[in-house]
Amino acid sequence: MARVTLQDVTKRYEDVVAVDEMNVEIEDGEFVCLVGPSGCGKSTTMESIAGLTKPTDGTIEIGEADVTTLPPKDRGVAMVFQNIALFPHMDVYDNISFGLRLRDYDTNEIDRRVEHATDVVQLEGMLDRMPEEMSGGQRQRVAIARAIVREPSVFLMDEPLANLDAKLRVHMRTELQRLHQELDTTIVYVTHDQAEAMTMSDRIAVINSGSLQQIDPPLVCYNEPANLFVAGFIGSPSMNFVDGRLTAFGLETDTFDLKFEPEHLDGVSVGDDVTMGIRPEDVYLSDIGQSADDETAPIGATTDVLEPMGDEIFVYLDLEHESGAPTDEGGMGASSNQLLLSVEPDLEISENEAVTVTLDRSKIHLFDGASGEALTHGIEDLADSPLEQGKPNVGGPDE
Ligand code: ADP
Repeated sequence: MARVTLQDVTKRYEDVVAVDEMNVEIEDGEFVCLVGPSGCGKSTTMESIAGLTKPTDGTIEIGEADVTTLPPKDRGVAMVFQNIALFPHMDVYDNISFGLRLRDYDTNEIDRRVEHATDVVQLEGMLDRMPEEMSGGQRQRVAIARAIVREPSVFLMDEPLANLDAKLRVHMRTELQRLHQELDTTIVYVTHDQAEAMTMSDRIAVINSGSLQQIDPPLVCYNEPANLFVAGFIGSPSMNFVDGRLTAFGLETDTFDLKFEPEHLDGVSVGDDVTMGIRPEDVYLSDIGQSADDETAPIGATTDVLEPMGDEIFVYLDLEHESGAPTDEGGMGASSNQLLLSVEPDLEISENEAVTVTLDRSKIHLFDGASGEALTHGIEDLADSPLEQGKPNVGGPDE
């Protein structure tokens, strides 16, 4: 077990900055996922920790040792990659023990370690199987067992489940969590899949364009995203965003107003561009077949595309009452002037219907329009006194 510390780690490839002054401290025994879109620098960060890539700048420590210039074999790490490279002509026992035999370990010690590793990954009774006789998930477990027998102080896993089918991937997530509990070892895990990161990690390091955006427990990244990028990347379907401007009364968008006292927000002033974010589960349908009414439910919209998911229906709302407007085809949330929400599967609702919605004020996020940094999570406390009546106010689900 060991800490992993990256201090100002930068990796440049000619004019590409793959990793940009990364500062991360991973605790002893922690399971940390590096997550971000393809090309954001996850693998380069991982390869720098493993010693497969030499950073242009910065230092890397594993445990108490500065390993920045050490070769991979002297770092006490074991890697599991996306492509499971098992030797096809060797059975499971030989595949798992190959590295130990190469280093002339004693036979009894090899047997002890192989038995322990196959026990952990639940491959008992399969030691004489050939790789071709095993499923993708079983082969991946052999690859993990091969890492376990090395008894590393840190496991580095780079998209180890990416080649498995969706069902097996979900199953293997649970297996990896169990593995982490059993081995109690530091795990650094690379994935582009935010759901994988959310379900497995102690903390998620969200990376974009080589820079660390936020490193926090999954629910903190979900509920208190540091900026627009994290807000949009974590969560599926993703957060709704609507652009607007700060006024003396709160936020004004092209389609509705949010009332609060903007002086409670640091770093912005009246006239500044601000983006409002709200997750689909925090948008509530108040009435179907009724137009907006400023007194009770100030956001009027028209239903656009409906996506029945079985246990819920995703409803895309067009805030501008324009039927047939283009929707976000990726199903990753709605763009400005659209809101995505989810409703019960048995709700009678159809396309092109007038509806009204309310937003949970405690779940409204505001982001600086220029920097994208979060200004607040929840706007219910942004008032000294009860807000004056008369101007439409977007209320919570109970209002
Ligand atoms: P990720 O793992 O998040 O998909 P990578 O770490 O593989 O991202 O890559 C980060 C950036 O560095 C990308 O723009 C990629 O094209 C670039 N890159 C990675 N490896 C090399 C290399 N050997 N030579 C040049 N550019 C590279």
